[in-house]
Amino acid sequence: MNSDLVGPLKALLKTGKRIVLVPHKNPDGDAIGSCLGLQRFLEAHHHTTHLISPNDFPEFLKWMPGAESVINFEKNRSEAEKIIGSADLVFTLDFNALNRTGAMQEVLEKTTCPFVMVDHHQSPDDYAEVTYSDAQMSSTCEMVYHLIDGLGAAGEIDAEIASCLYTGILTDTGSFKYSGTTPTTMRVAAQLMERGAQHTQIHRHIYDTNRVERLQLLGCALQNLVILKPYRTAYITLSQEELNRNSFQKGDTEGFVNYALSLKDVVLAAIFIENKEEGIVKISLRSQGDFSVNDLARSHFNGGGHINAAGGRSDESLKATTARFESLLPLYEKQLTR
Ligand code: 5GP
Ligand code: MN
Repeated sequence: MNSDLVGPLKALLKTGKRIVLVPHKNPDGDAIGSCLGLQRFLEAHHHTTHLISPNDFPEFLKWMPGAESVINFEKNRSEAEKIIGSADLVFTLDFNALNRTGAMQEVLEKTTCPFVMVDHHQSPDDYAEVTYSDAQMSSTCEMVYHLIDGLGAAGEIDAEIASCLYTGILTDTGSFKYSGTTPTTMRVAAQLMERGAQHTQIHRHIYDTNRVERLQLLGCALQNLVILKPYRTAYITLSQEELNRNSFQKGDTEGFVNYALSLKDVVLAAIFIENKEEGIVKISLRSQGDFSVNDLARSHFNGGGHINAAGGRSDESLKATTARFESLLPLYEKQLTR
């Protein structure tokens, strides 16, 4: 962490505060892991903390230490609003703009206490008193480690904090394979193992606790795979009907898009998931190499993310959305064809 940030952060944390920690909507392992890890650290420093998530998070993360006390804003809005209203400090983790919190945005925008942002997405908004933003970082969990280390407190990381932070590094690096994984990431992961993170157990919790319905949904998704060979692009669709038929639960489609990207020669992959309740199609985009799905998501799908992993949404039908996606590819002909 940049040493300029240490002073202001120390000043904010000098006395016991009522602190709220917030991940992005549809939180993943990095968002929940970073919030839970930092929350436990702050609790040990005599702060009173609440972790308020914009909505529910996947079952495969519910084993995490502290997960049982996460407040779901969508389900407990009035309680959450009261807590936010009386907070002295808000940490926002793993996102760069308040609109990533969905319906929580308006509540957070009304909040007058200072904010601290810890995030690794490009182009952070300017709402925080302390903005620790670094798009070179593998994960927000890695950043929380650097933050704690920056405060001179790495020795206070216990097995629970270590497990939370290790989880987010694991999920955001695709098990240490994405290009954002640096030697420092590996050193942080090693430190976390030394502090008690059980890597085999964590891996099993995250990747090997499938329900059979999820595997069947994956089968359905793979049947729907469309390959656009000239554009080195592949995409998957899942309609609401297909989700219902396979007893869809939150988190089930996590990682599906990577199967499209795993095809030989494919450099751009997408998954389009219909959500009839919200009247949208949720889009996840992945790429290999220089092709920026962050740009694609920003320019055409009301979203964003990182160069090789981004997301967005469409208000059109599933069919119209994929047709539009296909119609955009010629705009990127130079980068996609060869
Ligand atoms: P995923 O496809 O796994 O949902 O998200 C991949 C990356 O893109 C994550 O870093 C996530 O934060 C970002 N992302 C996903 N959906 C959206 C979105 O709707 N808007 C923005 N700005 N970023 C998104
Ligand atoms: Mn992240």
